[in-house]
Amino acid sequence: MNKVRASAPQLEGLVPYDPKYLPAEAYLSANENPRDVDDEVRAAIARRIAQVPLNRYPDPLANRLRDLIAEANGLDRANVLLGNGGDELLFDVALAWGGPGRSFLDLPPTFSVYAANARLTNTRCVDVPRRADFSIDEAAVLERVGKGDIDFVIVTSPNNPTGQRASTAFIEELLDATDALVLVDEAYFEFSRATVRPLLATHENLAILRTFSKAFSLAGVRLGYVLANAPVIEELCKVRQPYSVDAVSQAIGEVVFENRARFEPGIREIIEERGRVMEALRTLPGVTAYPSDSNWILFSMEDAGAAWQYLYDRGVLVRDFSSAPMLEGCLRATIGTPEQNDAFIRGLRDFLSESRERRARAMQ
Ligand code: PMP
Repeated sequence: MNKVRASAPQLEGLVPYDPKYLPAEAYLSANENPRDVDDEVRAAIARRIAQVPLNRYPDPLANRLRDLIAEANGLDRANVLLGNGGDELLFDVALAWGGPGRSFLDLPPTFSVYAANARLTNTRCVDVPRRADFSIDEAAVLERVGKGDIDFVIVTSPNNPTGQRASTAFIEELLDATDALVLVDEAYFEFSRATVRPLLATHENLAILRTFSKAFSLAGVRLGYVLANAPVIEELCKVRQPYSVDAVSQAIGEVVFENRARFEPGIREIIEERGRVMEALRTLPGVTAYPSDSNWILFSMEDAGAAWQYLYDRGVLVRDFSSAPMLEGCLRATIGTPEQNDAFIRGLRDFLSESRERRARAMQ
């Protein structure tokens, strides 16, 4: 067989994104909503989809959904851009604001897709690491952007996988300190009840990323959106795939957004359960749980890799970050239904007591 020549040099050594999604009884690894859309919404979706012409290209900009989102946010259509999941929009931002000779400021540990996108687009990635407690080193970020060479920054609020949101005062200071594009990734803002959206009125360099994948139970559909001032949206339109949001996804998004109040009890339950899981984790010896404003809790412990396997063997899939840089010994558990959360806590408690017994036996 003929050989194929090497792919682009920036791909060398790059590992494809792997969510490590394995079969399980309790899926607590991907920060999804544990509850699917309810039966009435599902029926309304089926009715709406039945009317979608499948032989025609979709509206490239999903204008009906765009208008719904704009109105709910006190904005205009020109301030909203839909994408094939937030992931696609993150890539669009890297294409539009990154590139050879351009620089991206990352605040690791954070969502790994940002750095991967920088690499794919030949953008220099500059790191300002978070502190040991995963808070943002605000002074260091402000100082770094002050040098003037950063083209875009992403601040994740709440930050995945560490859990806490960024302070609005800091975002405002950052926006004032630079003309770089500041993308605030609010994929999980429904669980923190905090948004920097009001700052759009005064800052042209702000963009906000949101998604339907988490609070609105649509991870399987792939819908995300950016809120920004019109000049930023226009630049993103230059790089986007024209038909990235298919007609069926647009229809589903419209029905779910029209019914968004129905998701509120589920969001409230997740926030309450987060408090309950946090309290339970804090009673477990040897476990350090980090505060969370989102729909998961990051925690660190000895033998985290073995704990991951123990939980998985009992049907509970959490996310293993134990060998990721800056996250050594950490696991992340998405908040699930009360029953799933109980299974997670029970499994972790059993692992710890079995480890203690093993150690005691070894000492005898
Ligand atoms: N931002 C963050 C911080 C995320 O965790 C995710 C999902 N893992 C996304 C963006 C993208 O989500 P989606 O593509 O499902 O909209």
